[in-house]
Amino acid sequence: MLELRPNCECCDRDLPPDSELARICTYECTFCAGCADDHFGGICPNCGGELVRRPIRPAAKLLTHPASTERVTKPHPGCPERAAV
Ligand SMILES: [Zn+2]
Ligand SMILES: [Zn+2]
Repeated sequence: MLELRPNCECCDRDLPPDSELARICTYECTFCAGCADDHFGGICPNCGGELVRRPIRPAAKLLTHPASTERVTKPHPGCPERAAV
């Protein structure tokens, strides 16, 4: 089951479970569409895998299988805003 992380790992933008802007890789590294496309060219900077749109979990299912609330952020090569952090 997907964790459905609550934010972009790069810019820390909120990505709620119903967001169509969430992108994930096979390890569920999670990014917004802007970072995924503009900074990383659709490739996960952590593992080199594809970033694809995260499927939206139906609201009724979130009651029994809620989304993660643990925010994950890290600096990535190729990310201009956080490169110096
Ligand atoms: Zn982002
Ligand atoms: Zn990854």
